[in-house]
Amino acid sequence: MSNHLFDIIADTSHPATHNVVRFPDGSAWTRAQLLERTARYANVLHSLGVKPGDRICLQIEKSVETMALTLGAVRAGAVFVPLNTAYTTAEISYFIGDAEPRLLVCDPSRREALSQAADKAGVTHVETLGADGLGSLASLADAASPDFAPVARGADDIAAILYTSGTTGRSKGAMLSHDNLASNALTLKDYWQFTPQDVLLHALPIYHTHGLFVAINTVLVSGASMIFLSKFDPDQILRLMPQATCMMGVPTFYTRLLQHEGLTRDATKHMRLFVSGSAPLLAETHREWSARTGHAILERYGMTETNMNTSNPYEGDRVAGTVGFPLPGITVRVVDPDTGKHFGVDEIGMLEVKGPNVFKGYWRMPEKTASEFRADGFFITGDLGKIDARGYVHIVGRGKDLIISGGFNVYPKEVETEIDSMDGVIESAVIGVPHPDFGEGVVAVVVVTKTAKLDDKQIIAHLADRLAKFKQPKFVFIVDDLPRNTMGKVQKNLLRDQHKDLFKA
Ligand code: AMP
Repeated sequence: MSNHLFDIIADTSHPATHNVVRFPDGSAWTRAQLLERTARYANVLHSLGVKPGDRICLQIEKSVETMALTLGAVRAGAVFVPLNTAYTTAEISYFIGDAEPRLLVCDPSRREALSQAADKAGVTHVETLGADGLGSLASLADAASPDFAPVARGADDIAAILYTSGTTGRSKGAMLSHDNLASNALTLKDYWQFTPQDVLLHALPIYHTHGLFVAINTVLVSGASMIFLSKFDPDQILRLMPQATCMMGVPTFYTRLLQHEGLTRDATKHMRLFVSGSAPLLAETHREWSARTGHAILERYGMTETNMNTSNPYEGDRVAGTVGFPLPGITVRVVDPDTGKHFGVDEIGMLEVKGPNVFKGYWRMPEKTASEFRADGFFITGDLGKIDARGYVHIVGRGKDLIISGGFNVYPKEVETEIDSMDGVIESAVIGVPHPDFGEGVVAVVVVTKTAKLDDKQIIAHLADRLAKFKQPKFVFIVDDLPRNTMGKVQKNLLRDQHKDLFKA
């Protein structure tokens, strides 16, 4: 039997001498070097007693060694569990208690603190790997054999567990199978027309599905290459852009590049594709980007549990404010969240997804898993949206962000779109906070340009004849920035918390 995912990633029809990982200083690793390094890490894992199906938890900075280790884990038949580098020791204690890994890999600076947590959780091995690619695990890999026969793994075996960000309740481990990852990488390669000539600017973190699977796996299965950057830096991105053909980013990459005077038609003329996802891209950003560069950003929609579900077309209209069509082999439907009744064109409801991309369930949470799937196998995404007459999927927000005021549904996106259309407004977030009469009261938090002379009253007045009374914000706050996580998602839970006592007597 083969190793389902690794065999596809390591596709030997691509030349071994191709520079697959390029660094900003001009140096590179060939496919042969990368694959050899995965064999060394697989040997190390094997020698530490990691058996097929065993978990290994990684809390390490982005580097090519980290990438080689994750691929080495797949090669060794292990299940790798990448953890956000911002997590505290207390948070890591929860994750290793839950995942029960054979091995924890951390930054050398955290070894002492995390070893105690590992001891408590019964984790027998703690090794280190730093941002510079050095550490005890890298030393073991240096000394290990460069040959390793991939451990047999089937399509349904688990390759990785990614913990969801868990803004409500406990963080859940999404189990992703070899075929969840392989099928999605092959689909994206075809849909976005990746070829061995492509060079991807890779500036995303690699503990999250976007940088880890969408970016790395798509590049590797295509025989393409990536310029591997430790973080997003607009100056560096623009300097390297002439060497690249495509970029994948979260919306904040695009808004920050738009603030840079170096972003011009000329600077982007070598590029064929800009992809955005992980959070909504403002229609305004899409339009500004087209005007400045001549490129229409391709927006797609996915989540940790499902990989990528929909994408705007490579050829054809990339419609701003939509996330495009269901990808081939994937079905998306809109249903009434309470009754499960199927909705028609333009009706807003819960988005549900089915396909080879959809995960195998939450780690050790069978009841939670069962409650998030319908009897016919569709996964309930938690996102509210609609499908228009042309088949484009629109997302109107997370189900949990839906506001119910006086018994009426208020979709935050609808109110945000009206506010964002005002001159001088950069962006807004509309939330519901506890209200003694209405259950929830609508509140808007708005970012305006430095030169705008807008105040809360003008914004409320602007909405007066545009939105029904129950949708109009009772309070508007002007702020400098909206709170965002590293993937660019607005953290509405923080805003709700900040304003939770607003309507209290
Ligand atoms: P994560 O699991 O961290 O990737 O988050 C997944 C969630 O991000 C989805 O359920 C959506 O709410 C949101 N998301 C991802 N891509 C988009 C997009 N293009 N537009 C709007 N929301 C998105």
